Amino acid sequence: MVSTIHGYPRHGRDRQLKKAIEGYWKGRIDQSALLDQVRDIRQTRLRTMVEAGLDEIPVGDFSLYDHVLDTATLVGAVPERHAGLSGLDRYFAMARGTDSIEPLEMTKWFNSNYHYLVPELTAATGFALDPGSLLEQVDEAIAQGVTPRVILVGPVSFLSLSTSVDQDATFQPIQLLERLLAVYAELLTALAERGVAWVQLDEPIAATDLDAQTAAGLTRSLEVLGALTDRPKLVVASYYGALGENLDLLANAPVEGLAVDLSAAGRADVEALRAHPGLAGKRLIAGVVDGRSVWRTDLDAALDLARTVGAGAASVDVSSSCTLLHLPHDLTRETELDPRLVAQLSFADETLAEIVTLARGLAEGDEAIAAELAADRQRRETRRTETWLRDDAVRARAAAVTEDDARRATPYQERAAAQQAHLGLPVAPTTTIGSFPQTGEIRKARAAWQAGRIDDESYVSQMHDEIDRVIQLQERIGLDVLVHGEPERNDMVAYFADQLTGIFATRHGWVQSYGTRCVRPPLIAGDVARKHPMTVEWTTWAQSRTERPVKGMLTGPVTILAWSFVRDDQPLGETARQVALALRDEVVDLEAAGTAVIQVDEPALRELLPLRRADWQAYLDWAVEAFRLSTSGVQDRTQIHTHMCYAEFGDVIGAIDALDADVISLEAARSAMAVVDELAADGYSRQVGPGVWDIHSPRVPDVEEMTTLGRTAIERLGRDRVWINPDCGLKTRGYDEVEPALENLVAAARALRS
Ligand code: GLN
Ligand code: ZN
Repeated sequence: MVSTIHGYPRHGRDRQLKKAIEGYWKGRIDQSALLDQVRDIRQTRLRTMVEAGLDEIPVGDFSLYDHVLDTATLVGAVPERHAGLSGLDRYFAMARGTDSIEPLEMTKWFNSNYHYLVPELTAATGFALDPGSLLEQVDEAIAQGVTPRVILVGPVSFLSLSTSVDQDATFQPIQLLERLLAVYAELLTALAERGVAWVQLDEPIAATDLDAQTAAGLTRSLEVLGALTDRPKLVVASYYGALGENLDLLANAPVEGLAVDLSAAGRADVEALRAHPGLAGKRLIAGVVDGRSVWRTDLDAALDLARTVGAGAASVDVSSSCTLLHLPHDLTRETELDPRLVAQLSFADETLAEIVTLARGLAEGDEAIAAELAADRQRRETRRTETWLRDDAVRARAAAVTEDDARRATPYQERAAAQQAHLGLPVAPTTTIGSFPQTGEIRKARAAWQAGRIDDESYVSQMHDEIDRVIQLQERIGLDVLVHGEPERNDMVAYFADQLTGIFATRHGWVQSYGTRCVRPPLIAGDVARKHPMTVEWTTWAQSRTERPVKGMLTGPVTILAWSFVRDDQPLGETARQVALALRDEVVDLEAAGTAVIQVDEPALRELLPLRRADWQAYLDWAVEAFRLSTSGVQDRTQIHTHMCYAEFGDVIGAIDALDADVISLEAARSAMAVVDELAADGYSRQVGPGVWDIHSPRVPDVEEMTTLGRTAIERLGRDRVWINPDCGLKTRGYDEVEPALENLVAAARALRS
């Protein structure tokens, strides 16, 4: 009975990894300094897990940028355009591109806010093992006296998460399985030689609906790797949901262990696992502690689960349900959070402690952890009965919502005419997604204000100056619908969370979103209400500085939920409705203040989509209702925009339509406008701004490139329905990129018009 996890946060509790890598990119440190710092971060990380008392430590879950990218380089799946480079240059070129080479596409990792880089494969991809970096980490761990369990992205998940770039449209990455297995076999031999006892193959794809070929591939891969003679023992792991019909594939595989998600998400498997014949003689790693939840674990329930679920297994280990990558590091630094809330929370380090406690209870009996169990019972009772997070007025208002409240009375075509009469926009109007670069001065001003070093008046005047600058810039460049630039927002969710009751911000709760980008998800812990208007002052100030329309910018209810840690004591849809009502009041206030265009961003709509199709409709019902509830309080002539990025939208086109927004801007540049075809094929009838500039790369596209993309969109959708805009907000870019790129974008729109 050991305690373990599937992965631990990578960025360091002070985001040292981000600082090191970005320092390297900017030329502040050289490669060897970077590698030294990275080694340091990795060793500190291992030490944390060891000192927490974890028996078995994951190794290989660390990554400089992304673990799927690491796997691609590990198995030699390097696209031709990057193949001329080597080492870190190649790695970062694949991750973020260079001036002349495009990076891999990036997309959401399962139903999380983590983004991975999508490996590109063709029928001709020849894999070749490049294990240097992984073996270095293994050696490092062993040298530190750690018992590693090496975590690998499993071959079938790797292929399923990859994309085909083959000419032949019938080619599917899964067809490369045999070739890839040969490389995994070689790797397992190398790991056995290093003295690694256990290797875990992460196959979270098993928590999704599999086609027959992928399911057969899963069986086949475990047979092939299981049959190897010179190999470490193997655990196959799945997480982020229940295995359902895929459970037998994994449980019956000829390997030595199975790791399963037994958090609420995976709980449905418990009955099938109990005394499963495939578990005989095997090690079961029971993920009884939710690796993605910040709420404390019900220790009694977890212990009970761990004791019963593995009746048929040789041993049962206590683990998190998945990697702790999605959790902030530690709660002890959150000294400003209400202690009543702190008492209910557990971040990565507290989760380690829970797992260690449970393993001890399992091994030594309840008495060994009697104090912990008693404290936890008390804690649960407190959460159930305390009232400080309750707002009965909010509950009553949410309960009274009717279908009509979530519907704009007039159909889109009529609204569009009223909006065009009101706004008078040209063909192919140009706009941006909201944020402008966050300069050092803005960040400094915000930090100073938050720390109380400058007063409201001087803060507001600095923000006004910035808004003025951004408005002037947009006027000079010639954009049609302007934005105020969002200088007052550090984060598009946190900004609203700070102004809503029931939601709490952390100080240090950073979680990796992609590469070096970390976010600090707020905690939605209670009933949500708006205290006062949240954006009206900034938007009206911006509007007062220009004749052109300024778009009001809000973050949508689904995204606020997706990018927060949400209370687990009521259905998500219930919480979404409360947030939607607060936003609805803001939308109505913006309109009343003279805002003619209002954008409600929902970049995370696709992200929360359940992994199983059977669960989609129930989710989309509440998600769509929440968006509509927040946007339907306005007159016909007020134009509602929404924005989405980073997703395969094909799955949610129907829901995008059902949002009934007048205009949607979408990430499209990296995928060469594929989304436009999906919308056209679905008969989508409203206006669309498919991004013509991939703002996640430092590359500035030229006029011709953006014109070509815009033309493609116009050919597919028709000339009155296309907007020209970037893929996403500009806050992570610098003005040296933004100015030329927006000039090119406006020039492209003009070329298209003529
Ligand atoms: N309005 C936001 C911005 O421009 C949207 C960001 C996003 O889609 N993630 O920053
Ligand atoms: Zn975006």
